Amino acid sequence: MTRLEESDGDGTRVVAAGQPEPVPGEPFLPGPVFAGPYHVADGSRFYSRYEHPTLDAFEAALTVLEGGPSVVFPSGMAAITALLQSSLPPGGRLVIPADGYFGTRTLVREEMAQLPVQEVATTDIAGFASGGGLDGVALLVVETPNNTRYDMCDLAAVTAAAQRAGCLVAVDNTVGTPLGQRPLELGADFSVASDTKALTGHSDLLLGHVAARDPDRAARLRAWRTRTGATPGPFEVWLAHRSLATLDLRLHRQATNARALADALAGHPAVAGLRYPGLPTDPSHELAQRQLRRPLGMLSFEVADRSAVDRFLDNARLALRATSFGGLHTTVDRRAQWGGDAVSDGFLRVSCGIEDTADLVDDFVAAADSLRSSAA
Ligand code: PLP
Repeated sequence: MTRLEESDGDGTRVVAAGQPEPVPGEPFLPGPVFAGPYHVADGSRFYSRYEHPTLDAFEAALTVLEGGPSVVFPSGMAAITALLQSSLPPGGRLVIPADGYFGTRTLVREEMAQLPVQEVATTDIAGFASGGGLDGVALLVVETPNNTRYDMCDLAAVTAAAQRAGCLVAVDNTVGTPLGQRPLELGADFSVASDTKALTGHSDLLLGHVAARDPDRAARLRAWRTRTGATPGPFEVWLAHRSLATLDLRLHRQATNARALADALAGHPAVAGLRYPGLPTDPSHELAQRQLRRPLGMLSFEVADRSAVDRFLDNARLALRATSFGGLHTTVDRRAQWGGDAVSDGFLRVSCGIEDTADLVDDFVAAADSLRSSAA
């Protein structure tokens, strides 16, 4: 950890974050320590539900990247649940995105029905906040960029309005990762994420975390985790820490691939409504330039209907069907199949992997061309 300096770039930071000083004869990243209870001696660790060394190291890494103390949970939803339950006062009003990850809306509707809650669309949140909408609201959750269309909200404006209203702000930063966006630096109180996605990127685990600007709020989250038992085990956490070292490289290639696919498909006759914030014509472009630290690796577009999606995917050898995103493989999700998003039957969310750019472009363009010839 002390090897890192403030001026270090992202690639340097992810390689060393949370790792101990090098010790001759020891690995760079110590392996997972498997234990429930520990032999107890005065002042030593005693039980893994509270903390364990593998978790301590990964949380230290996230703390470096987020710029605030970070608490890890067994999934993104567990992290969001912890955030809501530990930071909302009894009867506290909550505002959540109307168009973010539908799991968050479902959690609030089905498991927290007693909460006074309002849903606001991502692109309306800045106007809502500056127009006094946050008066009397205890917690605002935003998801920016959001996970389906990459709509964004202006975090500096929203957090300034929230501060005036005395409202806490949590940013679901799953799509951005702390390399793509630093919510705490932009004035948010919490950065929450599913680390199942790009942060770990190998499609082999579930994890999530919350980083807090105020250490007391992080301590409150930690206490909630210990009491409820939502502590992740060492193996997942170690896999995540091992994967973190390649985050900068993975995001670079994913973004290169997304930009190339967006350029190749934007004017294609079988493709409509393409969204990629890196394109100057995209509605999120101006905000993305200002707020994101780097371009990201996802895009979305529409083809005619459900059968066109099937034909597209049958003809795209490099596009795997999967719902999740941010992994090494390029994956495509027909979002309408899950019923949670307001999208058409032909809407495709594409998460670019790290395949060779030229191969991916050839593959997607050929698949799009196949729709044109079969429609003719
Ligand atoms: N937040 C966003 C933006 C997501 O896309 C997801 C999952 O897709 C979650 C949270 C929930 O994460 P997990 O599946 O790790 O519980």
